[in-house]
Amino acid sequence: MTIKVMDCDLAVIGMGGIGSICTVKAADLLPGKRVIVLEKAKNPGGATIFAHGPQISDSTWQRQAGAEPMEPQDLSGQFFDFLVSKGEADAKKYFKVGQTTMMGMMALKIGIDMPRRIDKYKELDDPSIGPGWWGSYIVDKMMECCKKMNIPVLTETRAKKFIKDSSGKVTGVLADTKDGEIQVNFKACFIAAGGFGADYKKCQELWPNVFNNIPMHNLNPPSLTGDLIDAAQDTGAGIDLKNAGCNVQGPIHHPYSYTVVTMARSSVMQLQVNLEGERVSDPGGGGGLGRVTPNPRVYSIADQDVIEKAGELAADAISEEYEHERAKKYWREDLAEEIAVDEKWGYGRHTTKADTLVDLALKLKIDPNVLRATVEKYNKECESGKGQGEQGSQGGPGGPGGGFFQGSASPMPVKKGPFYAIFGQRFRQCTHGGIIVNASHEVLDTKGNVMPGLYAGGDCTTEYTVNSGSQSSGQGGPPQGMQGGPGGQGARGQAGRGGQGGPPGGGGIRGGVGIFGSYVASQGGGMAGLCKGITAAINIAKYLSRA
Ligand SMILES: Cc1cc2nc3c(=O)[nH]c(=O)nc-3n(C[C@H](O)[C@H](O)[C@H](O)COP(=O)(O)OP(=O)(O)OC[C@H]3O[C@@H](n4cnc5c(N)ncnc54)[C@H](O)[C@@H]3O)c2cc1C
Repeated sequence: MTIKVMDCDLAVIGMGGIGSICTVKAADLLPGKRVIVLEKAKNPGGATIFAHGPQISDSTWQRQAGAEPMEPQDLSGQFFDFLVSKGEADAKKYFKVGQTTMMGMMALKIGIDMPRRIDKYKELDDPSIGPGWWGSYIVDKMMECCKKMNIPVLTETRAKKFIKDSSGKVTGVLADTKDGEIQVNFKACFIAAGGFGADYKKCQELWPNVFNNIPMHNLNPPSLTGDLIDAAQDTGAGIDLKNAGCNVQGPIHHPYSYTVVTMARSSVMQLQVNLEGERVSDPGGGGGLGRVTPNPRVYSIADQDVIEKAGELAADAISEEYEHERAKKYWREDLAEEIAVDEKWGYGRHTTKADTLVDLALKLKIDPNVLRATVEKYNKECESGKGQGEQGSQGGPGGPGGGFFQGSASPMPVKKGPFYAIFGQRFRQCTHGGIIVNASHEVLDTKGNVMPGLYAGGDCTTEYTVNSGSQSSGQGGPPQGMQGGPGGQGARGQAGRGGQGGPPGGGGIRGGVGIFGSYVASQGGGMAGLCKGITAAINIAKYLSRA
């Protein structure tokens, strides 16, 4: 039974990244209009709260630091200026202008970086993983703005069905709350309900080779089931899952300290074992949807000499200035932080340290004889100079994992305690694609007609661009980058961490041919896509001013 009816000018469904940005920007542009947000989860943030942010070009800060202005201003710069306009002093605590360097050698451009963790999240039980990156700053800041602007954010409110008037126009949405059903009537609606990566079955239907029942760690918040994509379809929206994508990678040490991730991929540390202590010959890395790994969980094994060398080399493999500096100065601290978490919780899912190989095996619940035999064999290979080739690293033939190891140093034997095991796992991290929208974020029906008043953006969308082979603005990166890229290059490696050149897996948004008309389709979403919350808000404001 419907217990409550609410009316508004704009309903935003989903208080993750793009939803929160669009909400506040639209409210800025529409003084006096009523905006209501419906959010399924108990807390706002969606996937965004765990992720790093988009690469920023052409913000006012960069211009002031001497960067060449673009004409017109780049969307990411507009987005950053908008964020800063919500509290410059606060932004200055977390963001800084710096030169983005490539491999620590060449100055490329003036960029914006955010130091590793914001204060609010420092005291988490497990400080080695997020939130605490860019994404959490965005969501927290937008929530603060909503409070100031009296915009109701109805949490634990799951939008489930759209309502149409007699002319067929979508005019409202039904939602479940813990107190019963509500109906929200609107003049315009922005659907920002994220991807469907939490629904394994849906993913399996689309990508059976990868969703193959071999364990895969799930980084999607549970609310990301794609129910709003289904609801949009029921109301007549065009849906394109043919061009959808999913970020699946691994096994890789993620999501933990970026420095330790890089250490575990160092060419000196090439001994990876499975949970039984046996050598793994397919080391993992990127590979995305094409990748079917038989080893979903691994440990990279090192001794003190290997760790020292990997720590020393880590910075060389990191392009981002901040992370480069961090790896150089603080790799020991980052490693110690992970070891402390595993010591505290005793679950061997970060980095485990022990004085002897036997103790390391026991801590990992591995038969010490198996691990010892594996290490001895590996050491012999290292000493005979055969190990590197057999791994297929350094561009060798090692199958989908080739290219996983970074650097040109030779693999080192594992001999002198203490010993270390860095955990790596196969994981999935969000889907991208679903509701078909045009470049103005208007939802298109199954024939390609605009559905008046209905807008969508972010991970729940597939964007259609007419008559062009290029991506729409704000995306960037080569095709297929979002899929993990070939052989590990796409992982949080030299291309920079997510958003700063792409998510783990690279920053490109895969394109394809649309399902109707002569459109080019590209997956919406990713952190780079969040900037488009600004564009969506501007278009919605124009629509509502006319309505
Ligand atoms: C751990 C992790 C790390 C990542 N790192 C990176 C990275 O470094 N770089 C990068 O580019 N990408 C990264 N990603 C992906 C990135 O986070 C997403 O692509 C992006 O945040 C999507 O933003 P969004 O606003 O579209 O969706 P989300 O932020 O997921 O927001 C969707 C919101 O909609 C709500 N919702 C869903 N259904 C309903 C409903 N029926 N009714 C009401 N509300 C609903 C959800 O609860 C959620 O709050 C990462 C993802 C994860 C999980």
